[in-house]
Amino acid sequence: MLRKRVSLWLLLCLALLPLLLLSGCVVPVETQYKSTYLDLFDTVSQIVGYDTDQEAFVEFSGQVKAGLAEYHALYDIYHDEAVVSIKTVNDNAGIQPVVVDRRIIDLLLESREIYDITEGKTNIALGAVLEIWHTYREAGLEDPENAELPPMEALEEAANHVDIDDIIIDEEASTVYLRDPLMSLDVGAVAKGFAAERAAESIEASGRTGVLLSIGGNVRAIGVKPDGSAWNVAIQNPDLESDQTSLFTLSIDNLSVVTSGSYQRYYTVDGVKYNHIIDPETLMPTTYFIGISVVTADSGLADGLSTALFCIPLEEGRALVASLDGVEACWVEPDGTIEMTDGFQALIQP
Ligand code: ADP
Ligand code: MG
Repeated sequence: MLRKRVSLWLLLCLALLPLLLLSGCVVPVETQYKSTYLDLFDTVSQIVGYDTDQEAFVEFSGQVKAGLAEYHALYDIYHDEAVVSIKTVNDNAGIQPVVVDRRIIDLLLESREIYDITEGKTNIALGAVLEIWHTYREAGLEDPENAELPPMEALEEAANHVDIDDIIIDEEASTVYLRDPLMSLDVGAVAKGFAAERAAESIEASGRTGVLLSIGGNVRAIGVKPDGSAWNVAIQNPDLESDQTSLFTLSIDNLSVVTSGSYQRYYTVDGVKYNHIIDPETLMPTTYFIGISVVTADSGLADGLSTALFCIPLEEGRALVASLDGVEACWVEPDGTIEMTDGFQALIQP
């Protein structure tokens, strides 16, 4: 009986096959689509995914983008946003606790963990020092001939106001208070990765897979491509003058690759380039490396670690990475020497 029914179905399907093929709906072919945005986190972002229907993909990527834009507004430190942002918290330093969105509290709690893991090298409370560098960098880019370094006394004075324990978080009341009136938060080292990770979580929860998110140098893969293959992520050559634009290509699924380089944001004083990652101990831009990539599942952790690894010499960096489960890294030294963990090497496409 059952067999008869099955063969009847089979017959029916075979009869209909030419029709279905003509209408193109036998095997829905998924096409790769890509949405690019220029207004998220002051960098270029891309959402790559597959769909049978372009409109459906555009709607999906629009939703992801809208979610990321909310994070961008919440984590902004420079502009007055329509929402209570990190800038609002900074503006109220030493004045009063500010009621904030839970997404701000979550970022600050994770930033504390990253501070602990990196022994203070990635410190979101470093705003007072970073602000000075930011001002001098902007002025130097505007008027390169008169570019100057900030005076060390000013940096040292600011460094008295960078204690992460002065961030008072009341989770129940959902408030944040900066106890030191002269301190400020700068979440530039962690915000993109943290937001990418939250976006990835909500994509996963929606049931969609086969998506690659990229926010600046922060790449996060959600699943594999529809054909089951891994994503190829090219690692940019930090030597922008080289003909070779990428160093190699990694093959990843369900992982994050965060790459940052001193080539991205810097200014030049007396022929020397000063980049935007500041060592909290020397209060000066880091000089050990020109590029670092970190691979791990969590994009927020990868982002926070990449900043810290810029601030410590190779052997210390290797020890830090080895002490963490599932973290791999690659360092590019100023002379072009490339160092990497074995696990990183294993991800490189032959
Ligand atoms: P990018 O986002 O450019 O790839 P990072 O993730 O390292 O690079 O973030 C750099 C930003 O983090 C800087 O622009 C600055 O706002 C901030 N920053 C710089 N040095 C530190 C530090 N030691 N700790 C915390 N934040 C930092
Ligand atoms: Mg970072």
